[in-house]
Parts: sequence; structure tokens; C-alpha cells
Amino acid sequence: MKERLQRLRVRMAEEGLDALLVGSPVEDIFKTYGANRRYLSGFTGSVGWLLVGQEVAFIAVDFRYYEQAQKEAPHFVLFPAKGQIGDWWADLVQEAGLAGKRIGYEPQGMTVATLEAIQKAVAAMPSHQRPQLVPAPPLVEEMRAIKDPEELAAIERAVALADEAFTAVACRIEPGWTETQVAWEIEKYARERGAEGLAFPTIVAAGEWAALPHAQPRPRPIREGEPIVIDMGVRVDGYCSDLTRTIVLGRPDGRLQQIYDIVLTAQLTAEELVQPGMTGEEAHMLAHRVIAEAGYGERFGHGLGHGVGLLVHEAPRLAPRSQDVLRPGMVVTIEPGIYIPGWGGVRIEDTVVVEDGKVRVLSKAPKVLQI
Ligand code: ZN
Ligand code: ZN
Repeated sequence: MKERLQRLRVRMAEEGLDALLVGSPVEDIFKTYGANRRYLSGFTGSVGWLLVGQEVAFIAVDFRYYEQAQKEAPHFVLFPAKGQIGDWWADLVQEAGLAGKRIGYEPQGMTVATLEAIQKAVAAMPSHQRPQLVPAPPLVEEMRAIKDPEELAAIERAVALADEAFTAVACRIEPGWTETQVAWEIEKYARERGAEGLAFPTIVAAGEWAALPHAQPRPRPIREGEPIVIDMGVRVDGYCSDLTRTIVLGRPDGRLQQIYDIVLTAQLTAEELVQPGMTGEEAHMLAHRVIAEAGYGERFGHGLGHGVGLLVHEAPRLAPRSQDVLRPGMVVTIEPGIYIPGWGGVRIEDTVVVEDGKVRVLSKAPKVLQI
């Protein structure tokens, strides 16, 4: 954590910032917003703000979190936050020695109401003490995109558990099981074996429902012969995994087998050819080309993948128009799909790590239509 703070300070200086305010736009009950705060400090609570300067690092939390913050964030000085941020902002700025300085905030890390409250508090300060508040670029997100060895190890544990849960449950599914039942069996398996929770609610979509990339499971029995898309991930030590497989009960018809083979070819092609130095758009096009040449280009409507870490969707983006550059140490998904309204869909997704030269595929769950 200390080393992360030092790297952040270098980037802050390059951007002309004396300090950076790091929080979360909402109370982070489900651990889906406070990733920057956790990444820099180690603090896993649902509410709190970090104020990082070149010489100082404060963590402002309310009474519920005094002890936890001191324990989890030893490199930060506790600032007891009483009331809303507008009530104590001026005091924190004084205590941090940041009066009159240039403080960056994360536009994606706060609401308009919070910003207005801070601005109001600043306006009430004596004019020579007022800090200058400026929107900061996504410095912490950029740091988080490249995983250090401990982060990678946590992700590998999350990937392995998802592989295991998928394989164990997929082998048992029989005609008549409902989508919700499959989702629950996966969740139960993962939780019983040490998952802190799911990375996101499991998607189980059979038949024509599989045409919806983010379908919600229904209490509908699964039938033989229809595609079943299962998209799932678990959280281990704060880190996520993301895995999709498409399977069928009984025998697939020719169309399903053909579409499956196209998606699998696109996926394996991307896994073979994605390299550091490429943009997210170039990576996307590797798979898109295969699908387009097979005549389904219009049916692959989402991006090829996304970064995975403390959040299941984070930087970089592998998608049309993404200029994010892939670098060694990034963990991303490779997940092409074909979706046909009224018929169904096929998606195959692995979590991979970008290494020197190419990617290493972390997901090991079998890629077979008939499991
Ligand atoms: Zn997924
Ligand atoms: Zn994904």
C-alpha cells in the first residue's frame, strides 16, 4: 500500500495536483464502488474518504469505522468524520496543511450533490485558505489496471474457484432444472468453498433468453437442445473472476453447433493473437473479424472484454473505439458472442493475464458444448 501511495504521488505531481480526494459516489455496501479507496488504503468499509497529499495521507471515516480504518489502513492518519463531508471538509483541509492548494477530486467518485457540498464549504472558508478543486484524471484506475503479484494471485484463486463451481454444477444439470436453480447451485457451491460472494449475480439464460447478453435467470425449466449461457464470477480476497460457458443438454442441432464453433474460433484466435502494445480496439477486431467473416458481424454487439480486479468491470476496455493500450500485468476477459433474437445466443469467456509477448489464459473450465 505504501508503494502504491508513492506511485500515486508521482502521478499527482505530473498532473500538477497537490492532493487527491478519493471516495465513492454512494455507500459501497456491495463493494462495487469503493475500489480506489480500498486499493490505496486497504480500508474495506462502505463509507469514507481519503485525502492524499505529497506529505500526508488522511482517511476520514465516521464513528462506525474508526477502529477498522486504523487497523486496515495503517499508512493513513484517522480523521474522525462527524456529519456530512460539507461539515468537516474545511477542518480536514486545515489539518492536512492543504489550505490554498490544488486538490483533485475524482469526477466518477462523487455525486453532483457531494461536489456542491464541498464547494459550499470551500466558499465559507477565508479566501486565502480556500483550496482550488479540480477534476482529476483517472489516476487510480490507471494504476489498478496493472496488477501486482499479490493481486494476480487473488484473481487466480477467484478464477480457479469459478472454474470448479461451474464444472461441478454444469455436469449435474438435467432437463427440467430451472435457470434460477442452476444459478443458486453455483452460488452455493462457491460460497461453501470460500468465496466471499459473487462478483455479480450469475447469469443463466437458456433458449431464446440466451440472446440477451445480461439476462436474469428465470424460474423456467431448461429443455434439451437449447443453448444455455452461464456467465458467472466469484470474489476471493476482494478480487473478482469472470467466466462464461455455453452448454447444451442432449444433442445440439446443426445451427447451434455451427454458431458455437464460430464463437470458439473467434475466442481462441483472440487468445492466441492479443499482445501487449495493442489497443483495446485492435484486440476486439481480432475476434470480430472471425465472426464477421462467418456472416454474424452484426450479432456480436458488445466489446471483446474488460479489465477484472477489485471490480468485475474495470480498465482497460477491449472494444470498438477503445484506445486503451494493453500492457503486461493487465488482467482482462476475452468474451466474444453471437446473439440472435428469438433463437438464443452463444458466449465463451475466459479471464486472461497479459504477459510479455502474449496472454496467459487463467480460466480452465472445459470449453465443450456437451459437458
Ligand atoms: Zn462474464
Ligand atoms: Zn465479462
